Amino acid sequence: MVDRRVRIKPDSDLPTDWMIHAKCKGMATSLFFANDEAGRVAEDSAAKVVCTGCPVRTQCLDYAIEAPMDFGVWGGFTWAERLRLINSRRKRGVELLRRDRAKPPSP
Ligand code: SF4
Repeated sequence: MVDRRVRIKPDSDLPTDWMIHAKCKGMATSLFFANDEAGRVAEDSAAKVVCTGCPVRTQCLDYAIEAPMDFGVWGGFTWAERLRLINSRRKRGVELLRRDRAKPPSP
């Protein structure tokens, strides 16, 4: 049987310096991690409003994709939306993370 559980990378393996600039810093985490289906749509929408205009939205989204975070709203995207984004980028053959796209070409 294949183990399909997601293994989340520890923060020591990921860039986290951007977190200090998060617009959501100090807000209730329940807004970004809805506990039940009933509240999920409303809370996801409210979380996305907070993410709009966040100065580290791109870094947050990259972090959630790279970890990978299979729950919550990160960078304005739910897990289902992140999965669609990941699959779309893979199909188009583009780098999964924005910071990888900015790398200079190898000599
Ligand atoms: S994009 Fe949203 S979840 Fe990520 S740091 Fe900014 S406000 Fe918080």
